[in-house]
Amino acid sequence: MTENKKIIVAIDGYSSSGKSTMAKKLAKDLGYRYIDSGAMYRAVTLYAMENGMIAPDGTVDAEALGAVVGNIRIDFAVTPEGQHTLLDGRDVEHLIRSLEVSNHVSPVAAIHTVRQALTAQQQRFGAEKGIVMDGRDIGTTVFPNAEMKVFVTASAEKRAHRRYLELQQNGTPSPYEDVLKNVIERDRIDETRAESPLRKAPDAVELDNSDMSLPEQEKWLMELFNKTEAAINGRDC
Ligand code: C5P
Repeated sequence: MTENKKIIVAIDGYSSSGKSTMAKKLAKDLGYRYIDSGAMYRAVTLYAMENGMIAPDGTVDAEALGAVVGNIRIDFAVTPEGQHTLLDGRDVEHLIRSLEVSNHVSPVAAIHTVRQALTAQQQRFGAEKGIVMDGRDIGTTVFPNAEMKVFVTASAEKRAHRRYLELQQNGTPSPYEDVLKNVIERDRIDETRAESPLRKAPDAVELDNSDMSLPEQEKWLMELFNKTEAAINGRDC
C-alpha cells in the first residue's frame, strides 16, 4: 500500500472564531505540524511595543519596524502544556495573548514589510507539507495552492465570549465589552487593509461554528480532511 501524500491545510477566519483550537487538534490527530500564524504577528507586535515603536496613540513606526523585522526570530517550542511561541528565543506565549497586544496587532499586521517577512517564514514552515496553519490569509496568499482550505465564521458576540473566557483562564481577565470592541475592530482592520485582507478563498469551505460544540467542529474538520485526502489519493471515501 502506498503512503498518503502529505498536504497543506489552511484554516482562515475571523478573530477568536476557534480556528486555533480546531487546527491544533487536527494537526495532533494527523501527526502534522501546527503553525499559529497569528502568534507570529502577535510576537512582532510585542517586539514593537517593547522597543518603543508604538506611540501612546497607537501609531506604529512602520519604518523602524520594517528595518528590523527580517532579523526578528520567531519559533515554536512544543512542551507538555502545548505549543509556546518564542521571540528571539524567549517564551512569550503568555504575553502575546494579552488584550494590549490584541489592541495593537492589526495595525502592525497591515504593514507591508511585516507581512512580507512573516509570509516568507510561513512558506518555509510549509515547504515539506504535512502542516496545518491558521490565520487570515493562509488560503489566499501564503498557500494559495493548499489542498484543503477552511474559512471559519461565527457571530461577533459568540467569538468575544470565547476570547473573554480564554483571557480569564490565562489570568489576564478583561471586561467583556472591551473584548467585544477589540474583536470587531480587529475584524474591520483585517478585512479592509490593502495587503492580503481577510477574505474567504474562492475554493475554501466555509464553517459557521456559532452553534457547534468543540467535538462537533473537530469531527467536521476530520471528515473534510478524510474526503480531501481520499480525492487526492484517488480513493472513494
Ligand atoms: O489569530 P489571531 O487572532 O491570534 O491573530 C492576531 C492578528 O494577527 C489578527 O487580528 C490579524 O491582524 C493578524 N493576522 C494576520 N494574518 C494572519 C494571521 C494573523 O494579519 N495570517
